[in-house]
Amino acid sequence: MKNIGLYVHIPFCKRKCLYCDFPSFGNKEDKYDAYTHALEQEIEKRGEQCMDYRVTSIFFGGGTPTVLSENLLRRLLEKIKASFTIVEEAEITIEANPGTLEEKKAKALRVMGFNRLSMGVQAWQNRLLSILGRIHTIEEFQNNFQNARKAGFDNINLDVMFALPTQTFDEWKETLEKIAELDPEHISAYSLIIEEGTPFYEKFEKGELLETNEEMDREMYHYAVAFLAERGYHHYEISNFAKSGRESRHNKIYWQTTPYLGMGLGAHSYFQGSRFHNTYDLDKYILADGEINRLEEEREIQLKKAAMEEFMFLGLRLTEGVSFKVFSELFGVEMKEVYNKVISDLLESNLLRQTEEGIALTQRGIDISNQVFTEFLLDE
Ligand code: SF4
Repeated sequence: MKNIGLYVHIPFCKRKCLYCDFPSFGNKEDKYDAYTHALEQEIEKRGEQCMDYRVTSIFFGGGTPTVLSENLLRRLLEKIKASFTIVEEAEITIEANPGTLEEKKAKALRVMGFNRLSMGVQAWQNRLLSILGRIHTIEEFQNNFQNARKAGFDNINLDVMFALPTQTFDEWKETLEKIAELDPEHISAYSLIIEEGTPFYEKFEKGELLETNEEMDREMYHYAVAFLAERGYHHYEISNFAKSGRESRHNKIYWQTTPYLGMGLGAHSYFQGSRFHNTYDLDKYILADGEINRLEEEREIQLKKAAMEEFMFLGLRLTEGVSFKVFSELFGVEMKEVYNKVISDLLESNLLRQTEEGIALTQRGIDISNQVFTEFLLDE
């Protein structure tokens, strides 16, 4: 049996954050039941396609999955358990934004089988949380974090953000210090990107919101890398840090181009050599009621060229980098035959470094990673 990861998208939040361009909606409580029903149908159908696969990780993301009631979440997880073969030690994560995780719900999630939580803290200062349009205060987060620990969650990720509008360096340091004091097993640290179509973008266009300059952004990032290393967090991916053995198994599936199936609104999949995604239209998704040909929107058979490109730029996000051996096993050709000149140029410019097994980004390479990744695009 082959390994696979499952992603389940819950596209609801209490309210939309001002910077968010994820497929999620606020104030749609009236759709929770119908959506859950449609998602259950999709899970069942996808399960039928996965008879030869065993599930090693499940990730409930969003949106804010924990806006759904315990009952709806239980139904979804039960449906997954009934429709797929799941390994005993599978990592089963749920995103639980602060402000949605009361003690009773935290306990219920643990009992129903979730064994990892991911919480979006973002910043330690209430003034920044309010600028971001988050629903929670830092006091609510602390309360929800304790609820999770009390419920028995011993594998928790905290998301934090830097380069926020008006955020000072001291505020970023304080966020990292306070987060590290809580001793979570995993920390994700992302720089804010102002995305088109968000209220932040409109403000930015009108000149009412300033983007953090590149220099400050990089200083904040370098500070986080050094600080978290001192606190025992292994920097294993550009934006991700973990205590030993607590790397996110699910996210590694994406970076190592292992198959995964996404279910729910707008969810993306990489399965049997194809990439495809579901509709982003909520009503259409609900009406499709799990009929795959009505909810799936784009399917692209991944050609070898595209697969090689993705292997490089997703794999290079990991600090361990990419392996020459794995590349040749997957594609039947040596990496150096395909990328000889690119690799030697990037090694020479100190953007790549040689590892025991292959190549990885240097610190400089990480700073301009997007630029480095484009070097791995192959000619038509
Ligand atoms: S909680 Fe997350 S998904 Fe929901 S609106 Fe805020 S950033 Fe977007």
